[in-house]
Amino acid sequence: MNQDFSKVRYINSPGENSLETHAVHRAGWVIISPNQVIENGCVEVENGLIKDVYRAFPGKNTMGKNRGQHTIDHGPGVLMPCLVNAHLHLELSALKNALSFDKGFAAWVQQLLGKREAAGTAVLVSAAQKAAKQLVDEGVGYIGEISTLGITRAIVQSLNLSGVWFQEFLGSDRPDTIIEKTRLGKTNSLSFSLAGHAPHTTDPLLLQAAKNETIVRNLPFSIHLAESDAESKFISGQKGEWTDFLMSRGIDTSAWPIGSKSPVQYLADLGVLDSSTLAVHLLNIESRDLDILVETQTQICLCPRSNLNLHNRLPDISRMLEKNLAPALGSDSLASCDSLSIFDEMAFIRQKYPSIDPAQVLSMATLNGARALGLLHRAGTLDKGKKSAFIYLDLNVRNKTDLIERVTTHET
Ligand SMILES: [Zn+2]
Repeated sequence: MNQDFSKVRYINSPGENSLETHAVHRAGWVIISPNQVIENGCVEVENGLIKDVYRAFPGKNTMGKNRGQHTIDHGPGVLMPCLVNAHLHLELSALKNALSFDKGFAAWVQQLLGKREAAGTAVLVSAAQKAAKQLVDEGVGYIGEISTLGITRAIVQSLNLSGVWFQEFLGSDRPDTIIEKTRLGKTNSLSFSLAGHAPHTTDPLLLQAAKNETIVRNLPFSIHLAESDAESKFISGQKGEWTDFLMSRGIDTSAWPIGSKSPVQYLADLGVLDSSTLAVHLLNIESRDLDILVETQTQICLCPRSNLNLHNRLPDISRMLEKNLAPALGSDSLASCDSLSIFDEMAFIRQKYPSIDPAQVLSMATLNGARALGLLHRAGTLDKGKKSAFIYLDLNVRNKTDLIERVTTHET
């Protein structure tokens, strides 16, 4: 635990409805966006929105701006956007440290299903509540929560969080049943949408029907994509254990349009990839797959800590950045990762990918995440007109470079 980050202070929470009517917040630094940083800055808020951001006392013009207004001085640290955890599964929080990673991904999934069943709903809910509170304490204000059991909907609603709650589905259930059960829609701070589990676990007709429903309702859609070797083999047409496994669960895949293609190509062919689909993981990726993601403007989210634990490998982030893809970050669940903290995820990326520009890493944790969840109009940066919900970190730094370095390398 790093002392600097032991307390993340919220200046309004993203899920709050009654925001300040008017105030000026000052701090040693303001990160408007990773490439736009102000020393000795003020964020002026009005009626729940950011009205202006400027230097506190650099000259007579801005002196005038401050005169007569109530300024709250937060200290030498930084005012910055809330972080975005664009992919997590709160309902698996009870399984923290309960599963072993050394027997491979398939064994991990089997253990997960067994232990989740054995834990029972009360235990799963209680652990999810605790994890959600901690997530907020760690500066995550916006989430993309994936729920298979549906039990985290009320938890997310009870906190001052904003973002998207996804009902995840898999297998070959009837689309209308799932859509009806989910109560899709939006409140001021939360959207309730649908997520397919993965290309190799979910009936293609169901994926298409669910995706179409989210398009009609202007909601984001999410799916795990190109995560495992079993997925790539199955979609490329290699019959084997995975086909048998699905058969054993009563899922007939004989009519699925698989064969001679990658998982990314497969979803593109189904019409599931577009600018409101958030594809998560992208570990097994060829160059052509990246081109498809660019062409379809698919949003992407990476969970490198989870990938290393479950698959002993990491996504090729540098190649994605070269293609001008803008990855968001997710933690995945506590069943495959030590924490849901996006400060921790950034610190991990800085350590494993030393050549990536630190400002890019901060973009992944803030504005890319907001874009990925369809929230860029109100979150992700401290630009004028965005929601007046942001965080303060108490730290002492020498200059802008030092600031971005410290923010992206410190763990919660
Ligand atoms: Zn996941």
